[in-house]
Amino acid sequence: MPHILVVGSLAYDDVETPFDRRREVLGGAASYFSMAARMYAPVRLVGVVGEDFAESDLDRLRAREIDLGGVVREPGRSFRWLGRYNYELNTAETINTDLGVFSGWEPRVPDGFRDSEVVFLANIHPEVQLRTLEQIREPRIVALDTMNYWIERERAALLTVMARADIVTVNEAEARQLCGTHSIIRAGREILKLGPRAVAIKRGEYGAVLFTRDRTFWAPAFPLEEVRDPTGAGDAFAGGLVGHLARADKIDDAALCTAVLHGTVCASFAVEDFSVAGIEKAEAEGVARRMRELGALVAI
Ligand code: AMP
Repeated sequence: MPHILVVGSLAYDDVETPFDRRREVLGGAASYFSMAARMYAPVRLVGVVGEDFAESDLDRLRAREIDLGGVVREPGRSFRWLGRYNYELNTAETINTDLGVFSGWEPRVPDGFRDSEVVFLANIHPEVQLRTLEQIREPRIVALDTMNYWIERERAALLTVMARADIVTVNEAEARQLCGTHSIIRAGREILKLGPRAVAIKRGEYGAVLFTRDRTFWAPAFPLEEVRDPTGAGDAFAGGLVGHLARADKIDDAALCTAVLHGTVCASFAVEDFSVAGIEKAEAEGVARRMRELGALVAI
């Protein structure tokens, strides 16, 4: 079974929805991703936390068999993000981002992680993504996620690392912003021209669209009556997508389409509770059940 290496944010989030709010809860792109991907293949995490990061939060990741051998603790504050959702719960408004120990951090991939076959460059500074990728000996599958914060501030670096990725995931708003077009179809095609062989555009409760050179694939979201906290949906989506590809150990169109369905199923677990609690509780059998239900939803 190939190993998945992830680099990305480990964070404390303050989250507000129209219905509820939480302060200082475990978040970060790498946390959500790992909690999903661990259901498919062994996960190795590279990241940085500050002095204020609770050991008990790292223990939650360890308890799910996520290898924290690449996580370092540095003097200073951990990454913090404050986000708010409107009534539609589809896109987050960032109220504040505090990079803390992530600013100026030089990622170091431990020797024992350098043989990782599958790499996920989760949402973080694109130069950190690139420097991490450069330390992996022979990555077979490289996926990348990003967000408006980096598209606005670090576009050149982002385009450089995107060109090295096999798969790029972005949400609708980010795809529009990156390509300067309202059309998701046009944006998907434009992103393919930047180098990756596949692009998955996440559309919140409307699911996701996959673009490759030869096809487009429209995947529904798993329907839920109640969404409590959309934070981390995108990262859990990536966890299911990359996890499935690692387990299948291939990235042909058929594997990619199935992987997108795994992505929407993992995202559905993530949004059922605040912080990582939803995806932390998920298990492979529950994922398999929702995959069957998703199939039945679109069968004629
Ligand atoms: P998602 O909802 O999947 O897009 O990801 C939400 C997570 O991304 C939150 O837990 C945040 O801590 C984290 N996050 C927010 N902004 C950034 C950023 N600029 N760089 C890295 N991680 C971020």
